[in-house]
Amino acid sequence: MIKLMDKWRITNRLLNHSSKLIFDRRLSANSHNSVFRSALEYSESLVKRGFGNASTIRYRCFGSEATKFERNAAFSTLNSEDVSYFKELLGEKSVIQDEDVLLAANEDWMRKYRGSSKLLLQPRTTNEVSQILKYCNSRLLAVVPQGGNTGLVGGSVPVFDEVIINMGSMNNIITFDKGSGVLVCEAGCILENLVSFLDDHGFIMPLDLGAKGSCQIGGNVSTNAGGLRLVRYGSLHGNVLGLEAVLANGDVIDMLGTLRKDNTGYDLKHLFIGSEGSLGIVTKVSIHTPPKLSSVNLAFLACRDYFSCQKLLREAKRKLGEILSAFEFLDNQSMDLVLTYLEGVRNPFSSSMHNFYVLIETTGSEESYDREKLEAFLLSSMEGGLISDGVIAQDINQASSFWRIREVPNFNSIYYPCVQDYLNL
Ligand SMILES: Cc1cc2nc3c(=O)[nH]c(=O)nc-3n(C[C@H](O)[C@H](O)[C@H](O)COP(=O)(O)OP(=O)(O)OC[C@H]3O[C@@H](n4cnc5c(N)ncnc54)[C@H](O)[C@@H]3O)c2cc1C
Repeated sequence: MIKLMDKWRITNRLLNHSSKLIFDRRLSANSHNSVFRSALEYSESLVKRGFGNASTIRYRCFGSEATKFERNAAFSTLNSEDVSYFKELLGEKSVIQDEDVLLAANEDWMRKYRGSSKLLLQPRTTNEVSQILKYCNSRLLAVVPQGGNTGLVGGSVPVFDEVIINMGSMNNIITFDKGSGVLVCEAGCILENLVSFLDDHGFIMPLDLGAKGSCQIGGNVSTNAGGLRLVRYGSLHGNVLGLEAVLANGDVIDMLGTLRKDNTGYDLKHLFIGSEGSLGIVTKVSIHTPPKLSSVNLAFLACRDYFSCQKLLREAKRKLGEILSAFEFLDNQSMDLVLTYLEGVRNPFSSSMHNFYVLIETTGSEESYDREKLEAFLLSSMEGGLISDGVIAQDINQASSFWRIREVPNFNSIYYPCVQDYLNL
């Protein structure tokens, strides 16, 4: 573990370095970006009107308008010597120039963004990640870290010809402590593999999402993914206990603690959670995992309006309390799209469409008590007019089919974007 002063020095260096990285990327990415320009103008107009400092809101602007921008000429172009260096470092197999592989790696999951990288690297150790970044930094080669490439905002694919650093080969589980429930693993572990591993030991991951079959824990950390269990177990800022990461200059920063209560000064790992690879590459993760509970109940409900959904959530928190483990909602347009385009999904209700739908999951340790509690809650919600219809899953198959509506695992990406806008809560 690094000492406090070392931590401070690293923070300083990290912030100096990262602000440059972010600035470079944003500057080049936005020099011809009308969305950004108008957002900037808007923020400046707010300042003129006395609404605070423009710089504080400048980057909090989002837009999906097609943008046109130029590659930053300061970055070098990959040459054959670079490729030879990487082959020497990683071995031929981990230096990918195959066109088909690159085609997939250059495109994001939503098929909205496409880069033109000519090289994908697959490091197997932290030291290899460090050597790659050190070299790229000295050669001014731009890089993009990539996990399972399931991110929905284009952060995992190159904008231009960046070298893709894919973390899939760093997929070892390092330790698991049954006493504390702390799992330490490499960043390239696929979420679903961690779920299965923990299941064998009677534990669960504190996060679960539709992309679990492909996304990696390093990608989850870097996107601060929420998922279906957030209502119960909170965000990754609470569950991730430690990280190891490699900075852009190749320095390895060891924050891989396993203590739940660690109040020894600055907690740098939080900067990396949700930083989308802009500060460095996450190579190892230590995460607290809760025990698996035996009794799970799932209800699929229909609500007349959005306000009923909101009220239902408040009531669920109050009345289901400690057993509430998921609360998700979707509107009738989302449901219509899912039913129309997603193969094998059936409407849980025989009657026609409702305005809103809510999925409520409870997880506890006492089957009859949990079921009774859920049924009493549903009855009172029905009597109070919050729910207009409802079904409780009778077995695991029915529960999976309810979850499938929310998770949208194999949706055709031509239609998926519209669904995702609604479903991504
Ligand atoms: C079907 C589906 C359902 C989803 N459901 C949810 C949901 O319920 N809740 C939610 O929050 N999100 C959801 N997502 C989006 C979610 O954020 C991502 O799926 C997941 O967290 C990204 O992991 P990944 O390994 O695929 O990362 P990638 O997509 O490969 O990368 C995402 C970002 O992290 C960076 N990155 C990746 N790995 C590393 C690393 N090791 N170190 C540093 N940076 C890295 C990349 O550069 C990129 O900026 C869903 C996506 C899909 C496709």
